[in-house]
Amino acid sequence: MSVKETEYYDILEISPSATQDEIRKAYRKLALKYHPDRNPDGTEQFKKIGEAYEVLSDPEKRETYDKHGKEGLDNSGGINPFDLFSELFNRKRRNDGPQRGNDIIRHFPVSLEDLYQGKTLKISINHMVICPDCKGKGSTKPEEVRKCNACGGHGIQVGYQQIGIGFIRQFTQACTTCNGTGEIFPEHLKCSRCNGKKVIEENKKVEAFIQKGMEDGEEVTIHGEGDQHPNGMAGDLILILQEKDHQFFHRKGNDLFFSHKISLYEALCGYVINITHLDGRKLRITSAENDVIKPRSVRGIKGQGMPKKDKSFEFGNLLIEFEVEFPPKNSLNQKRIELLEKVLPPRTIENKPKSERNPKLEIFYPKKMEVSPDEKTESTNEAYRLDRDEDEDGDGDGCQFM
Ligand SMILES: [Zn+2]
Ligand SMILES: [Zn+2]
Repeated sequence: MSVKETEYYDILEISPSATQDEIRKAYRKLALKYHPDRNPDGTEQFKKIGEAYEVLSDPEKRETYDKHGKEGLDNSGGINPFDLFSELFNRKRRNDGPQRGNDIIRHFPVSLEDLYQGKTLKISINHMVICPDCKGKGSTKPEEVRKCNACGGHGIQVGYQQIGIGFIRQFTQACTTCNGTGEIFPEHLKCSRCNGKKVIEENKKVEAFIQKGMEDGEEVTIHGEGDQHPNGMAGDLILILQEKDHQFFHRKGNDLFFSHKISLYEALCGYVINITHLDGRKLRITSAENDVIKPRSVRGIKGQGMPKKDKSFEFGNLLIEFEVEFPPKNSLNQKRIELLEKVLPPRTIENKPKSERNPKLEIFYPKKMEVSPDEKTESTNEAYRLDRDEDEDGDGDGCQFM
């Protein structure tokens, strides 16, 4: 899929082929990370994320952006990133639709092992529940309850705050007269348990299921386990998974990678690797017959990567990134060199004794040399290209599968 520019996709850390669901999840994850309430230096990035999401979440705008880039978009409006955020995160506070308890959103760190095997988690949360003493009425005498005049019974007041240039943050807050309940009653009739608030905080253990193959940033929603609401539905508990770094494996999509150092001897003559997989299985990995491992090359094993979500019998690949350790300087004496000469391919040019050489030939002995960063990049690229050209299996990525 070709798009004119990828800036908005890059901001949300997604590919231009991302689905609406992926766009929403990416926004959610990043908006939480950079929201100025949590991250004082995040304001600029928070605005950018909002702008990117506003365009990409609207199929029409997205199509225009894909075709013509930012230039093609009519940016006259200028969205308020805080409104966008509230809309997605605080469903309760929307003025239309039925009232609803707050969603509880938690970042939840999970190990790669748990993402590999799947897991039922027991999570302890604090959420608001209907007060059992007054059954959510707030008063010992429900018939004395009147509508709050300060907020018209909505329980919400709207405030404005200037944030940077060009952004007015409109925020809603609980009415201070009625504490957000929309109702008032004489002080002496207040329920003593909830202090008239109709809800009390309760700690609860909740079960959440991590599906095999879930990824960093994915959401697990437990319906109805958010805050309860005296006049409406309970909100949801939403866990946003955060994949913890693993000491051995690293993950790219469904593929698992690990780095492994072998000696030059093992690179030429074969290697054996023992690893423990994420489910505790012991694996022995041995070189394919006559395989020669060049430095920085990759070998793969099909089907030993991460399970694919929703396809419990399909797995990604396991990839080994090799580092070849060469023998140290001066480790070869004349006798060993002669032995190597017998088994390795010969030199391309023989260095003849001085008496037989052309006397005009200039001889040089290169030494280790520091290279400036620019040149270094170039030379690395060069080496990389060579590596690819020599890629014998012809699949172009220098990677072979067993
Ligand atoms: Zn009020
Ligand atoms: Zn109560």
